[in-house]
Amino acid sequence: MAKLVVKPGANIWGLKIQVRQIFKAASKVWDEMGVKAVTVTSARDGVHGIDSFHPFGYAVDFRSWQWDDETAKQVAALLQKRLGDQFMVRYEPTIKNAKGEILRGAHIHAQYNAVSEE
Ligand SMILES: [Zn+2]
Repeated sequence: MAKLVVKPGANIWGLKIQVRQIFKAASKVWDEMGVKAVTVTSARDGVHGIDSFHPFGYAVDFRSWQWDDETAKQVAALLQKRLGDQFMVRYEPTIKNAKGEILRGAHIHAQYNAVSEE
């Protein structure tokens, strides 16, 4: 099992118990990929969309810069498969502005679908 590391500044207080399942599955998958630590880069912090599950404690982001885009996508798909339909996992690639500055680093987003979307 890869160990869980929380990036300084990431707020994991108030995460819902369902996220524990995400942590456990991610730990296994990361370990299988030869990565020793699962790093949480964001949970109940940062700026997220209006429909985000982050503020409610149902979503976490994981560092993925140890992988290229293609590998990170495959890891996200594998984590999704392990967690099943009640969860949603996706790879979110780096977003840069016109000057090439990174606005948001690449990460793997995982959430428990606490409510169904209308
Ligand atoms: Zn996220």
